[in-house]
Amino acid sequence: MRMTEKRDYYEVLGLSRNATADEIKRAFRTLARRYHPDVNKDPDAEARFKEINEAYDVLSDDQKRQTYDRFGHDGLNGGGMGDAGFGFTGFGDIFDAFFGTSQRQQAAYTSAVRGDDLRQDVEITLEEAAQGVTKGLRYTHLETCDLCEGSGAQPGTQSEVCSTCRGTGYVRHTQNTLLGTFQTTAPCGRCRGEGRIVTAPCSQCAGAGRLRRTRERNLKIPAGVDTGSRIRLSGEGDAGLRG
Ligand SMILES: [Zn+2]
Ligand SMILES: [Zn+2]
Repeated sequence: MRMTEKRDYYEVLGLSRNATADEIKRAFRTLARRYHPDVNKDPDAEARFKEINEAYDVLSDDQKRQTYDRFGHDGLNGGGMGDAGFGFTGFGDIFDAFFGTSQRQQAAYTSAVRGDDLRQDVEITLEEAAQGVTKGLRYTHLETCDLCEGSGAQPGTQSEVCSTCRGTGYVRHTQNTLLGTFQTTAPCGRCRGEGRIVTAPCSQCAGAGRLRRTRERNLKIPAGVDTGSRIRLSGEGDAGLRG
């Protein structure tokens, strides 16, 4: 794939692969002094000097060194994997490349989903800003339903494990392609990726597990705030899903 064969960076600096940062620095200094084109009149010295610089540039940088250790010269070209089209690191990436799903995403289908943050603007006068003030705040947000505690099932009834996906929340499809047989996964259509089916929906939230409620709360604005300041209230945004 490469036009010219590059020498191993450790070999260029005459080091072993587990050389310490100090050893790398020392080797670089010694070699750079020896091959500097101003000092060394050998016709190959300049190329050698460049090679030494390049090797030091990579090996003295922890991140670049790690990439080089794992992927060699090709790993450093074009910013690493992916750019070349086929820079797989593991089996999961093969799924990503062909079908856009990976093992990591599968796990997310059945786990809890964080609720959204809300934002509200509050206007205050200059005096209020200077002295600090307490403002009444009125906002509507989604709360976890207190009757079913977010499960969506009427209390006393049980949600059932989805028989289509056996509770996993996703289903597998096997696909035969020229490159071989691949398994893809998609969220289960029957339970919408929840893994469970509510047989008797909660009477208060109709099975949603969340309710829209308007709340009022006093917000204490400290003295000396400026235009555009943000104050964060935790636990007042939208409730998430499944806890
Ligand atoms: Zn409910
Ligand atoms: Zn299902």
